[in-house]
Amino acid sequence: MERRVRVRFAPSPTGALHMDGVRTALYNYLFARQHGGDFILRIEDTDSNRFVPGAEEYILDSLKWCGIEIDEGVSVGGPHAPYRQSERREIYLKYAMQLIESGDAYYAFDTPEELNAIRAEMEAKGETFAYNYTVREKLNTSLRLSAEEVKERIERGDQWVVRFKMPENEIVKMDDLIRGHVEVNTSTLDDKVLYKSADSLPTYHLANIVDDHLMEVSHVIRGEEWLPSLPLHYMLYKAFGWSDTQPLFAHLPLLLKPTGQGKLSKRDGDKLGFPVFPLRWVSPDGEVSRGYREDGYFPEAFVNLLALLGWNPGTEQEIFSMQELIDQFSLKRVGKSGARFSPDKAHWFNAQYMHVRDNKELAALYIPIAKEHGYECSPEKAEKIVGCIKNRATFPGEFWDLSSFLFEAPEAYDEKAQKKYWKGDAHKLVSQLRDILAGIENFENQNTEAICHAWIQENGISMGLIMNAFRLAIVGASKGFGMYEQCEILGKEETLRRLDKALATLPETV
Ligand code: GLU
Repeated sequence: MERRVRVRFAPSPTGALHMDGVRTALYNYLFARQHGGDFILRIEDTDSNRFVPGAEEYILDSLKWCGIEIDEGVSVGGPHAPYRQSERREIYLKYAMQLIESGDAYYAFDTPEELNAIRAEMEAKGETFAYNYTVREKLNTSLRLSAEEVKERIERGDQWVVRFKMPENEIVKMDDLIRGHVEVNTSTLDDKVLYKSADSLPTYHLANIVDDHLMEVSHVIRGEEWLPSLPLHYMLYKAFGWSDTQPLFAHLPLLLKPTGQGKLSKRDGDKLGFPVFPLRWVSPDGEVSRGYREDGYFPEAFVNLLALLGWNPGTEQEIFSMQELIDQFSLKRVGKSGARFSPDKAHWFNAQYMHVRDNKELAALYIPIAKEHGYECSPEKAEKIVGCIKNRATFPGEFWDLSSFLFEAPEAYDEKAQKKYWKGDAHKLVSQLRDILAGIENFENQNTEAICHAWIQENGISMGLIMNAFRLAIVGASKGFGMYEQCEILGKEETLRRLDKALATLPETV
């Protein structure tokens, strides 16, 4: 029987979620949806030293903004609750003990000072220290100490950890859905800590494997940085006797800097002026980091650009809705090598979504922008404005520059534009055009355009001359959008007022 697809996104709440983490969540989500499976959100908060307040909420808000829906997990619950590892402590202790009993793990009592001393001693001899099969039987571990001594140490409250007893010289044969078959000799691996008495918490490795097993996870899709942990994870599944049901693994390629050299970091973003976080983040010490949302990205554009950083559809298609991504995504088409992030391409994606965005939605963004500049703008007017400017905009932050002249009549006339466009019969023609417009009742742009163009044609007037002069008179510069659309938005009264002022200000003959 085919196994039900169950994937998890398992972030640690150690700060803002990097865009690379959002991509991991997205790929898991797409994979789950495509296979009619479950997308689980598990919070891996077993490293109490790195816990950052607010980070979990940030993760939830980010997923929500991206439209990534959680089927099971923190915030929604489910059959394997709790989904926050700090609330599952007892479970992990039991499994750590199971490994000790089966001989796959052992107690270690070495204090950090003792370990540092051994490390220093070995380094002095030019050797490197690894906690592994070469030393574990000489150190303070249950492999050397007698059972009574171990018991006594535990009872008197000595701190201990459980370490995995990595076998010597065994080949771990692993398969990765993206990287293929990989083999590693266990002698190259050390004995990782699985559990610590100091805080009664497991480490990532133990908690992750136990939970993936208990939560019946079928596929682990995660960042490449976890690839070095894969042999240990295979060995843990084996030690628990769970190899038959262990998940399949897929390690995603890194997100690279715009130069293609090295991992994309927050510093690159700060330096080159782009966000690396989905939402604005204020760290507990008050440091503020920009977010895609606050920079004016549409969530659909952000999701679209992330989807293509590592996955390629094998076609020329670049614009994908979430549903199209769900239909077309495949781990087979995720590359092995890093995916270079391009801020220009990110802009391009947002522009594509901007150009086709519903005017009502954009109007809702426009109204507060106008208000910020001190102008009330009705929803109807805002819809008209955004309909005219959205094709020239990448971000809502550009709206005001593209349309402020609709609220602020020209105080002066751009000199360059005046030199270039206010010449010959400009004054006379604009004056005639003013009278024609004054006679029009219905100021809808199609109507004014039809009437004015008929006049232009009948009189053999140069289209370039009249339209450029008309623009200079209305806008005060050679910018803006369609003249008749502008006049419709300004309304008849304001249009005539501006024309009269221009005619009174600009020279009659040049
Ligand atoms: N807690 C790990 C992280 O923060 C999860 C790694 C995994 O998916 O196994 O990325």
